[in-house]
Amino acid sequence: MIEIPLTRTDALAIWREFLPRVGRYAKDRNYVHEQHRNVSLLSTAIRHRLISEDQIIDETLNRYSFSTAEKWLQEICWRRYWKGWLERRPDVWTSWRNRVEQSTQIFSAEVLDRAAKVATGQSGVACMDALAHQLVEKGYLHNHARMWWASFWIHAEKLPWELGADFFYRHLLDADPASNTLSWRWVAGLQTFGKTYTVRLSNLEKYADDSLLQHTAGNQRIADGAFASQAQEETADLHCAERLHYPDTLTENNLRSGLWLHSEDLLPEVGPFSRWQGEAIAVQSCEIKGISGLRQKALAAVTADAVKRATEHFNLPVTRLDQHEAIQEILAWAKSNQLLEIIAFAPTIGAARDMLPSLTDALTKNNILLQFVRRRSDHDTYSYAQSGFFPYWKKMSQYLAQPTLL
Ligand SMILES: Cc1cc2nc3c(=O)[nH]c(=O)nc-3n(C[C@H](O)[C@H](O)[C@H](O)COP(=O)(O)OP(=O)(O)OC[C@H]3O[C@@H](n4cnc5c(N)ncnc54)[C@H](O)[C@@H]3O)c2cc1C
Repeated sequence: MIEIPLTRTDALAIWREFLPRVGRYAKDRNYVHEQHRNVSLLSTAIRHRLISEDQIIDETLNRYSFSTAEKWLQEICWRRYWKGWLERRPDVWTSWRNRVEQSTQIFSAEVLDRAAKVATGQSGVACMDALAHQLVEKGYLHNHARMWWASFWIHAEKLPWELGADFFYRHLLDADPASNTLSWRWVAGLQTFGKTYTVRLSNLEKYADDSLLQHTAGNQRIADGAFASQAQEETADLHCAERLHYPDTLTENNLRSGLWLHSEDLLPEVGPFSRWQGEAIAVQSCEIKGISGLRQKALAAVTADAVKRATEHFNLPVTRLDQHEAIQEILAWAKSNQLLEIIAFAPTIGAARDMLPSLTDALTKNNILLQFVRRRSDHDTYSYAQSGFFPYWKKMSQYLAQPTLL
């Protein structure tokens, strides 16, 4: 059984256990073993911020030299790179969601049927089918397996990347609007234009263990050189938005204030809200419709953990809000606590951010102020993600050389 931590306590325990293995990460990380002992399995905890990247980076650099830990630090930072990149190009997310929602009008019945078959593990390439089952049953795939499967979908099956990305997004427990969408686009050749990622049997044979390699039926379809991958046509207009600026500290204004915690950042006890004093707290998971049952359970677990920690830290009533009718829920909570202001971490591109125009409208009509704060390190690290990863990493390396990020 693999263990995906869904509480802060478990995430910290896994991290303590993994830290001594960080020195071997660069050498070991690409191997896909059934138990995944060579990677951290922290992605779901990081995605909902049960544990922060800052803490991980800080503790890594306290123990290792930069050069020993560089690969590990890079992977931790890829996530923030993707987030920062998408912040500037919100249309990429919107266009992807629109195309998925309109898929029956956009794609032929033949394409949709084949997509359903491959996603239910009936492609006929047994190792790829085993990975599809693994994703649905466990809500997790190793990074290399994600790359193989996405490449198989796009380049061998010639299926639209948008539908494959949607399948991942609905099932991965760590599903993240930026990491998922942009990694799929990268495999398709849309991120680094013209550069695609091609799955090759020899690569699987080098990095996968017997639990995957025992499935050999249909392997000729992914034999090296069996298909030519092609970069896809760009589908979205890359609209480079003005970066939104949020303050990194709270403005005190003596209004009756409530803290709205959403599933983008469930760590209020560390950072700008740690000393906040107000009237009430609400915790809410914000997601698209149609996510898997396993993922719904994981969201329930991470939000329950946030409720527990917030109750202990702030000693205030903490309400769990339903994600259906999300805006009405927030409004009802605010009214019942006679709030005049709601404070929150500024959500990044994704489901929580999509709610903001309607939420702001509903609150304004009720004379309730909405105040967003962005952690300083999020603000800084997103701001470096203007073009490719390597210029970003150059800036990040200098940033990480600062004494402390916490
Ligand atoms: C097609 C595709 C879809 C993906 N979708 C997601 C997603 O929805 N959510 C998500 O968190 N990651 C996604 N990834 C990135 C990566 O596969 C996972 O973060 C990683 O496998 C999680 O396992 P881990 O925590 O054991 O990783 P570790 O190897 O232990 O890495 C530590 C942490 O670094 C970050 N990280 C590592 N690799 C990457 C990467 N390539 N890109 C971004 N962040 C990374 C994650 O936060 C991860 O928890 C995707 C990759 C591909 C190729």
